Amino acid sequence: MEQALKNFFLFMAKNKTFNRLAKKYGLALGARRFVAGETLQDALGVFRELNDKGLMATVDHLGEFVLNEQEANEMAEHCIAALEGMAREKLDCNLSLKLTSMGLDISKELCLANMRRIMDVAQKLGIFVRIDMEDYAHLEDTLDIFKTLRQTYDNVGTVIQAYLYRSADDVEDLARLNSNLRLVKGAYKESPEVAYPDKRDVDENFKKLIRLQLENGCYAAVATHDEEIIEFTKQWVKENNIANDRFEFQMLYGIRSELQLRLVKEGYRVRVYVPYGHDWYGYFMRRLAERPANVAFVLKGMIKK
Ligand code: FAD
Repeated sequence: MEQALKNFFLFMAKNKTFNRLAKKYGLALGARRFVAGETLQDALGVFRELNDKGLMATVDHLGEFVLNEQEANEMAEHCIAALEGMAREKLDCNLSLKLTSMGLDISKELCLANMRRIMDVAQKLGIFVRIDMEDYAHLEDTLDIFKTLRQTYDNVGTVIQAYLYRSADDVEDLARLNSNLRLVKGAYKESPEVAYPDKRDVDENFKKLIRLQLENGCYAAVATHDEEIIEFTKQWVKENNIANDRFEFQMLYGIRSELQLRLVKEGYRVRVYVPYGHDWYGYFMRRLAERPANVAFVLKGMIKK
């Protein structure tokens, strides 16, 4: 039943008609719980609140199904405006983005050109940019573009998904570029040909990737709400004398807020991933897919904090 609901929400996330309707009617269905608002101003207000509590932030301007060059360029402009807003308001915040929203499905050249525009501004302002990882079909292109950018920019990083069989090799390969990686379980529906179908294998691989990344001397962003993985990381860094500034925990806005604050109190760096924008529907559906119980919680307005 849980798997069927998961598949249903992942299917709904890709539905273009619902996506269009959601844009038209604005934040609804309880999405406000996971999305900071529809405008940059809304998001900047949320970053300030998070910073005041000792939490860092990373902003994601939501955008799905970017279909033409103009839309991709507009998405890049949104990212640049977000960078300028964060710098202006002196927020402890960086940027997360998806290459498909920069035009990857239109052409790699367009995507790279948009990325260079964003990276030039980010470099000037001293702000880090994280390239989110999307589904397996985009993995090679995403890694290629990341490696190309990494040759010029120090302030760029990407994401590796623990559900993929190949990820340990990717972590090793990217260590040669001293890559700052966010490590996650993985949010998309992938075939058993490329990804572990069993959650226990994903969790074990996640731990392995955390160890590899830190053993290689690279910065790790451990992005999970899973307390077992968080406890594993705390224990492992302690045993291996890894300083707290060599890694951070990351969680999504609206999920496990109390745990985020507890980790800050314990002296860990914690960053909250804060999405905003009109295009909230696909993101929201993927969050419901991760935990279909959220549907009931959202409806009752009593989700676990
Ligand atoms: P799970 O085993 O799914 O969950 C562990 C526990 O966390 C659950 O029992 C529950 O208590 C809580 N929990 C988890 N999800 C939810 C939820 N939606 N609502 C309420 N409680 C929940 N994936 C990608 O593929 N590419 C990315 O670039 C990417 N970036 C991410 C960035 C951040 C900061 C985070 C936190 C996640 C990102 N993800 C990304 C998503 C990730 O891959 C997982 O799908 C997601 O984090 C859920 O897995 P989990 O590690 O929290 O563990």
